[in-house]
Amino acid sequence: MNGPHAKVAIVGITYRCNQSCSFCLDRERRRSGDMPFDEVRTLFETLKRTGVTRAIFMTGETGLRADFFDVLDLAADLGLDLALTTNGMLFADEDFLARTVAHGLTDFNVSIHGTTPDVVEAICGARGTWERQRQALRNLNARSATGSPLNVYTKTVVCRANLRSLTTIADDLTALLPAARLTLGFKQAVPLDPQAGREVAPYAATREPLAALATHVATLGRPALFDGFPLCCLVGAEQLSRELGDLVAAREYRLAMPAKDDGWIPLGAEYRKTPGCGRCPLASLCLGGLASVLHLTGEDLAPSPTDPEELALRLLAHRADDLAGLSAADLLEHLAEVTRAVEGAPKRRVEPAPEASATPATPPAPLPSRSEPGAPLSPRLAALAERLAADASALQLPAPWRVSTVVTADDVVTLGLRDDTRRVRFLVRDHRADARALARVGAFDLSWTTEPEHRGTLDRAELHALACALAPFLR
Ligand code: SF4
Repeated sequence: MNGPHAKVAIVGITYRCNQSCSFCLDRERRRSGDMPFDEVRTLFETLKRTGVTRAIFMTGETGLRADFFDVLDLAADLGLDLALTTNGMLFADEDFLARTVAHGLTDFNVSIHGTTPDVVEAICGARGTWERQRQALRNLNARSATGSPLNVYTKTVVCRANLRSLTTIADDLTALLPAARLTLGFKQAVPLDPQAGREVAPYAATREPLAALATHVATLGRPALFDGFPLCCLVGAEQLSRELGDLVAAREYRLAMPAKDDGWIPLGAEYRKTPGCGRCPLASLCLGGLASVLHLTGEDLAPSPTDPEELALRLLAHRADDLAGLSAADLLEHLAEVTRAVEGAPKRRVEPAPEASATPATPPAPLPSRSEPGAPLSPRLAALAERLAADASALQLPAPWRVSTVVTADDVVTLGLRDDTRRVRFLVRDHRADARALARVGAFDLSWTTEPEHRGTLDRAELHALACALAPFLR
């Protein structure tokens, strides 16, 4: 967040990358080209028009674009504040870093997943990564020491390969970046396809290493942020949860969580709870775990032992500047209110994790598929519609859901799903068609509608589990 009512957009303008991380969400798309420059202009102008003040480049390695510096200039001309997510490899070149800073970019989200060549290169799949990343961090530090300190937010994806070396990573990054404005970030690996899923550590396995890490980072004198972990994985350090920070910030930044149907991903959309949450004292303040992780692991989250009042006091101390004058009771009330709002009203039911079974319980019904007049389908959408019509059983839907219809019209593929009593329609759009990259799942925009008679019988958690099951197919 960078000011009152800031809207922050996560954008992707290339999928090309010079690494091949084991948990990459964009593996299948890495061969696709860059978004053309005039589409980038349209995207930036759209962001500005909708009140966005800050864009974070997330997919691929944006610095590989031949027009990278033109993109930075375009953002500067439009007054759009930028942050760059990068694996750092390009910034091992001091001149490239100098040019980037000269073109106005001073916020770097650098993905660093280990401290030894064997771990880093096993995760990132590119030889020489370790040395180049260390050189990049040295360069970022040297530039911070000689000019204005750069904002460096390191992002370590927590996965099986580095679960036991997280404190060493925190020490290493702190030692390498003494002059930068450093925030240490640790992020849950997100499984959107079976290959990425192999790297994901279940939440139960992350609890102990995260508790040790949270205690340790408190001694390092640098801010830290944990992203994608439920509060029960951060016992004693819940104030460092990014999601809890977002909920707190929603007091001032309510406009930063616009509704789904204007193209924004609503705060909390990808989280869900499990039956164990029903016994948890923090349930009214917590969004739960990432739906895709719970879908993969089938875990029941363990209730937190933390007392909400004590957590509120810690939060007030942690965010003293933002929350001055607020009492613990007010803060708790605010958090509970925002949590209810983002979970949707009426409050959603707590559902057991859907089974990971890939096979629908009953054979898929024959698929009526038709085309209607309207805007022509993009080639990618047309290919998707064809695949769905030919082999919809390849969708990994949790039983008893199955595909009932595929309809193509007006540059939208409508995918009907049903179980024995209920129906839901997923609308799949090609995000490149209208620059609405903000709400995409996989390679396409995805939204859903339910028939009026089924409204209220599907909750957001269930819809989201279905969306997660569809995502790999939509890439
Ligand atoms: S509500 Fe659920 S996810 Fe959140 S802390 Fe409690 S048990 Fe964990």
